Amino acid sequence: MLTIRLKDGKDKAARRHHPWVFSGAIDSISEDEKGFAEVLSTDDYFIAYGWYDAKSHIPLHLLSWNRNDKADESLIRKLTRESIARRKAFFSLPDTTAFRLIHGDADNLPGVAADAYGKEIRIIVSSRFADDNLHIIAEEMNSCLHPSIIEAVTDKQFSSLEGISERIRHFRDGKEAKEEGTRENARFIESGIWHEAAPGKGQKSGFYCDQRDNRNAIERYAEGKTVLDLFSYTGGFTLHALRGGALSVDSVDSSESALRHLLFQIHLNEDKGTIPQRSRERVTITDTNAFEYIRGVEDGKYDMMILDPPKLAKTKGNLENAMKAYKDLNRIAMMKIKKGGIIATFSCSGALTREDFRKVLEWAAADAHKDVEILHTLSQGEDHPVRLAFPESEYLKGYILRVL
Ligand code: SAH
Repeated sequence: MLTIRLKDGKDKAARRHHPWVFSGAIDSISEDEKGFAEVLSTDDYFIAYGWYDAKSHIPLHLLSWNRNDKADESLIRKLTRESIARRKAFFSLPDTTAFRLIHGDADNLPGVAADAYGKEIRIIVSSRFADDNLHIIAEEMNSCLHPSIIEAVTDKQFSSLEGISERIRHFRDGKEAKEEGTRENARFIESGIWHEAAPGKGQKSGFYCDQRDNRNAIERYAEGKTVLDLFSYTGGFTLHALRGGALSVDSVDSSESALRHLLFQIHLNEDKGTIPQRSRERVTITDTNAFEYIRGVEDGKYDMMILDPPKLAKTKGNLENAMKAYKDLNRIAMMKIKKGGIIATFSCSGALTREDFRKVLEWAAADAHKDVEILHTLSQGEDHPVRLAFPESEYLKGYILRVL
C-alpha cells in the first residue's frame, strides 16, 4: 500500500470527507504507482484510505475515513455491499424496478454509476478506478443480487479525460463474459409506468431514473392541460402527463430514435392499461433543436411546459454561458405560457449551484415581466444521494413554477 502525505493547510477538505484530492494538495508519496493508499497529514495523523492513480484527472480519490477498514480489494467489496444495502427499501417496491444502486463518489465508489433495470444491471464507467476494479464490483453485485447480466459501458465524456478505452463489457454469474448476438431490451416499471431500455446504447444507462419523483410531481398538475415536453427523451414526463389526464402533449427532442422509442412506450402503456386508451392520438413528436423550437411557439398555446435540457454547464469554465442559456430558455417559456400556467424546469449541471439556478430563474422572470411563484422545489431521487461533505453530488435541481 502507498503512503501519501497531504500538505499542511491543504488537507482540510479531505479531513471533512470530501473525496477528491488534486496533485497540488499532495506533499509526498511513497512510490509513484497506482493502487490503494493510506493518506496521512504531514504529522502522520490518519486521514483516510484512498485510491491513487497519477493518470486520473483526480489523482487521489478518498474511499474511507475509517481507520479500521482494510485498504485492499475487500474495501471495494464492502463499499459495494453497503451501497446496495442502503437501497434496501427499493427492492420491495411493487411498482418501481429501476433505480440507482451505486452513485459514484457519493457512495465512495468513484466513477461507478450502477442502475438496476429489473433483473439487469447497467454500469457507466467514468474513472480509471472504476475501469480497473470493475470485475470486483461486478462479482460483489452478482453475489448480492444475482442479476441476469451486468453490462458496463464507458462514459464517452470521460474516456479521453481519464485515458480509458471506450468499450462495453459484460458479466454473467459475476464473471466477465463475451456477449454474442443481440440482447432484448430491458423492461422495467417506474411508479407503475412501463419502460424499456435498449442494451448498450441510449443515453445514460438507457433511462434517467433520477427524475422519478419529479415525474410524479408534475402528474398532479396535468389534468386537462395542453403540455409541451421539451427535451423529452423517451417520454418519462410525457407518459406521466398522459396518465395525469393531459389533453395533449407535444414532445420535442433532437434525438429521433428517442422519440420513436417514446411512441413505442405509449403503445406499451396503452396495452398495459396504465395510461388512458388512445393516448397516442394526443401526442405529437418533433425531432428538432428545442432551443429554436420554443422561440416559434405561439403565445398562450400551452398551459404546462416541462424544460429538462441536457447538462449545459459541463464545467465551471462554461458556467457563464450556460447560465445565459438556462435564463433564455426559461425567459421564453415564461413569456409564452398561458396565464396561470405551470412550468417544471430543471438543471442537471453539477457546476451550477441551486442558488445560481434560482437566481437564473429570478432574472428570467424579471426580463419576461412576469410574477412567478415556486410551487415545489425538486431534486434528484434519494437513490442518487447528496452528501453534505461533497456538494458536487447535488447535480439535479428543479422547480415547479406557476406563472401568474
Ligand atoms: N426529460 C427526459 C430526459 C431529458 S435528457 C426524461 O425524463 O427521460 C436531455 C434530452 O435532451 C436528451 O434526450 C437529448 O437528446 C436532448 N437534447 C440535447 N440537446 C438538445 C437540443 N438542442 N434540442 C432538443 N433536444 C436536445
